[in-house]
Amino acid sequence: MPTRPDTLPTPKPADQHPALRDWRCQRCFKLLGRHDGARVQLHFARGHQYFAAMPVTAICRCCGKLNELRSGKTG
Ligand SMILES: [Zn+2]
Repeated sequence: MPTRPDTLPTPKPADQHPALRDWRCQRCFKLLGRHDGARVQLHFARGHQYFAAMPVTAICRCCGKLNELRSGKTG
C-alpha cells in the first residue's frame, strides 16, 4: 500500500507582517515607514529594521517636515 501525506504543513513565515500600511510624509509623501495600527516598522540602510510603538515622531529626510503617527489613526 503506497503511503502519501494527507496534509502538507502550512508554511508560516515568521517575519511576515500582514496588513501593513504605508506611513508617508504629510508634505512630500516620502515613505517614512509602515505600520499595522499599533507599531511602526522602520527601515534603515543595510537592511536594519526596527519596530517602534506609537506614537512615533519622525523628521522627513526629504523636506524636513515633522511627522507624527498615533495609534488608531488611519493613513
Ligand atoms: Zn517630506
